[in-house]
Amino acid sequence: MNFSEDPSHNLIRSTAESIAAEYGPEYWREKEEAGEFAEAFWDELAEADFHGLLIPEEYGGAEMGMQEMGLAMETLCAEGCGMAGTWYLVLTAGMAAVGIKEHGTEEQKEKYLPDIAAGKRNFSIGITEPRAGTNTLNVETRAEKDSAEETSADPAEATASADGDEYVLNGEKAWITFSDRAENMILVTRTTPREEADGRTDGISLFIIDMDDPGIEVSPIPKHAINYSKSCEVFIENVRVPEENLLGEENGGWWPLVDMLNPERIGFAAAGTGIGKLAADTAIEYANDREVFGTPIGTHQAVSFPITKPYARMETAALMRDKAAWLYDQGEDCGYETNVAKATAVEAGIEAVKQSMQAFGGWGYATEYDVERWWREINLTRLAPVTQQMAYNHISQQLGFPRSY
Ligand SMILES: Cc1cc2nc3c(=O)[nH]c(=O)nc-3n(C[C@H](O)[C@H](O)[C@H](O)COP(=O)(O)OP(=O)(O)OC[C@H]3O[C@@H](n4cnc5c(N)ncnc54)[C@H](O)[C@@H]3O)c2cc1C
Repeated sequence: MNFSEDPSHNLIRSTAESIAAEYGPEYWREKEEAGEFAEAFWDELAEADFHGLLIPEEYGGAEMGMQEMGLAMETLCAEGCGMAGTWYLVLTAGMAAVGIKEHGTEEQKEKYLPDIAAGKRNFSIGITEPRAGTNTLNVETRAEKDSAEETSADPAEATASADGDEYVLNGEKAWITFSDRAENMILVTRTTPREEADGRTDGISLFIIDMDDPGIEVSPIPKHAINYSKSCEVFIENVRVPEENLLGEENGGWWPLVDMLNPERIGFAAAGTGIGKLAADTAIEYANDREVFGTPIGTHQAVSFPITKPYARMETAALMRDKAAWLYDQGEDCGYETNVAKATAVEAGIEAVKQSMQAFGGWGYATEYDVERWWREINLTRLAPVTQQMAYNHISQQLGFPRSY
């Protein structure tokens, strides 16, 4: 085991620190209040090569790994960006880049990866459905093979697409982040209904779709926080896509999806410790200044220990995140470590933000100190991308407990 830091990690950390110094808490307070996408921040991430961290050099990326991505996210979050540090990287630069790099065809890699690395293409990821919820294997969005020759009444149209079969997509998704502005979505569908599939995880297929298709309608869901992005209901009606938009094998989309979910959870582990450290560091500074009984409030262990304890747990959770990311980068199974990192980082981070708010007293409730916003932001990490209960379900099963569902 070697804990000496790679020089590239120093570079990632210092780059993230200087970006966060430019786009600090005031910037995010304004974006949150205005409900505006942070265009300038997004572009700055592209300048720093952060959108291309996981993308091979031949497609314009920096060819690094999840360890570096986790470090970039945690540092951005902890140094002032809060949830945005993970949020603006996890879906496109994390999940979509990984999915296409690992499972895309050569044409898909050439078409999408250079644009992602340059910050010119935003992806949303369409997994959740109103009825299926956490049970992704129950998705009902259908992709049915249909030849244009057979269905089109217009002979010209039939000839135009006669060289390949198409799929027709229909369904409904919920909470799909960035779907109001993304160029593309990776859509999770069923090509075989669950009851007809050979195995539990068979029958799922992933498609890359264009969001400007007239068959797609998007409706933002008003939400608790993170209003510098929109998360939406997405209605998909008779969207036709050619076979070449399939990502991975037909009916074999489950495993490529799992490959994308682990980086997402590692990203949320980074958000848990990042937001937690941001709130805690801000509260520690406040607790050194603020005096009410002739001594700084931080001298009272009733103020310091409730922050120190989750801080210590965040440090251990960050190490587990590094281990999960390292395993992921070696191509090894990292499901257990990823879920341990996510669950513990989130638990410790939430406690750190809660106790930091307490240290601010009544001022913790004022928007000007930001801690109430970080509280709203970190609340997402216990609900998504996997709820804490489902992360602990996964860990329990790995420990040998029987599956409860
Ligand atoms: C702001 C935001 C952004 C999001 N962005 C995206 C996105 O971009 N793409 C996307 O696909 N999804 C996205 N999601 C969806 C998110 O991943 C889901 O909300 C989450 O997975 C939970 O699904 P659900 O809301 O349907 O809860 P449900 O599945 O209805 O679960 C409700 C509760 O029951 C618990 N529960 C259910 N089954 C079990 C069980 N077997 N054991 C123990 N507890 C159980 C759950 O843990 C949860 O607490 C987003 C959500 C939010 C809030």
